[in-house]
Amino acid sequence: MTAAAESTVTFDGRFARELSELAVPWQAEEAPEPKLLVLNGGLAGELGLDPEYLRSPEGVRLLLGNHVPEGSTPVAQAYAGHQFGGYSPLLGDGRALLLGEVTGVDGRLRDIHLKGSGRTPFARAGDGRAVVGPMLREYLVSEAMHALGIPSTRSLAVVATGRPVRRDTMLPGAVLTRVASSHLRVGSFQYARATENMDLLRRLADHAISRHYPEAARAGNPYLALFESVVAAQANLVADWMLVGFVHGVMNTDNMTISGETIDYGPCAFMDAFNPAAVYSSIDVGGRYAYANQPVIAEWNLARLAEAMLPLFNEDQEQAVAPAVEALGMFRRQYSDAWFAGMKTKLGLAEAPAGSAEAEEASELVDGLVALLKDGPVDYTSFFRNLSQAARGNDRPARGMVLDLAAFDAWAGRWRALQPDADLMDRVNPAYIPRNHLVEEALAAATDGDLKPFSRLLDVVRAPFHARPGLERYTEGAPEDFGSYQTFCGT
Ligand code: AMP
Ligand code: MG
Repeated sequence: MTAAAESTVTFDGRFARELSELAVPWQAEEAPEPKLLVLNGGLAGELGLDPEYLRSPEGVRLLLGNHVPEGSTPVAQAYAGHQFGGYSPLLGDGRALLLGEVTGVDGRLRDIHLKGSGRTPFARAGDGRAVVGPMLREYLVSEAMHALGIPSTRSLAVVATGRPVRRDTMLPGAVLTRVASSHLRVGSFQYARATENMDLLRRLADHAISRHYPEAARAGNPYLALFESVVAAQANLVADWMLVGFVHGVMNTDNMTISGETIDYGPCAFMDAFNPAAVYSSIDVGGRYAYANQPVIAEWNLARLAEAMLPLFNEDQEQAVAPAVEALGMFRRQYSDAWFAGMKTKLGLAEAPAGSAEAEEASELVDGLVALLKDGPVDYTSFFRNLSQAARGNDRPARGMVLDLAAFDAWAGRWRALQPDADLMDRVNPAYIPRNHLVEEALAAATDGDLKPFSRLLDVVRAPFHARPGLERYTEGAPEDFGSYQTFCGT
């Protein structure tokens, strides 16, 4: 049965074949004592992989890259990138490998990728490894994002390698098996452009069009259409992050996908109290990737993508610039439309014709709400759930969260006059997010060998909109002694 189960899925090596200049064939490091910590059975099913097989010794070795299935040609991908604004011409997968692509039961092609699989030629000073805590963090947060309806890479498994890894202390090593609609990044285009190989740049763009935006192929200028599609996808993605209070933490151009999926969950966090300046990354001392900066940074990254793609827009450099600037200029409008529409839905307000008195009033209410939230420490997630109770007639829980009661009452009076839909609110405002103190608690226990808190938290965040009795603990803010939260990337 096991052999048959594996053969039902055929790996392809399309990226490696079509873009060999960006792919270094490589092998994963052998894990001394593999132990499967968590497997995403549902996702395995979507990919046509048999979960039973993946739990078998050979399946676990496949998840680590130690058993290379037929058709798979593991490669480390080359890319460049701006990190905190500074350009690195060569980054690449220093501790990751693309195993290949598989076609899921829905017919969609997806990358199967490893993180923490050992040093590659791009490893520089890094050890090529990853540890249990951060890999479980990526698993948990990416699955939470997916459940929230936010485009994201997915997590198929985390396998402990049995190898201790040196960080500040010795920690248990692990490999994350990640699934994405591709791993093409802004940094992939920056790398291809820097080679001055225009054929490579064009093949990369064609590959991106074919995998993500096939309709662009029929546009008058397919490469400009590709760029416009990425602009739109990122505008929607960052609006989703903002609406749910997500801080990515390391929006370098190598961590921004062409597909519009969230990628690389390093020093990321969900805000507790609403705070535009919220930063969780220990290395982001200047606050470049603070919550409120994310739209501007996304636009900045897209400008770097436009620069890299410029020769594709028009052979004449002069003539390439104007359409690129125009396409980039659409970001602000698309972001702001997506964010405003999302905020109105969070407030349970029906769509009103643009320019109507209702639409105008709804926009003022959104602005008024942001002012209220800024005014005091208000738990962002709970506030919207409490507000749906206010829509049902019980003001108390939401009112009790704000400092300026008169301002709240005035705002709530105007808001209720628009007859907000409380059920709609509960369908878009999560009751459960991976709260920082709960994530830390779960990861600390998992690092010590107890996976129960992790599994429980994962179950909770997988159904974020459905409030269940007995889960009150998962809706509460951080305890007083939790202090100012910091996460660390590259671990
Ligand atoms: P990240 O911040 O995780 O997106 O990683 C940025 C770059 O550093 C990428 O090129 C990674 O492959 C590389 N990198 C991060 N951690 C390690 C490590 N432990 N060993 C080798 N390379 C690493
Ligand atoms: Mg990265």
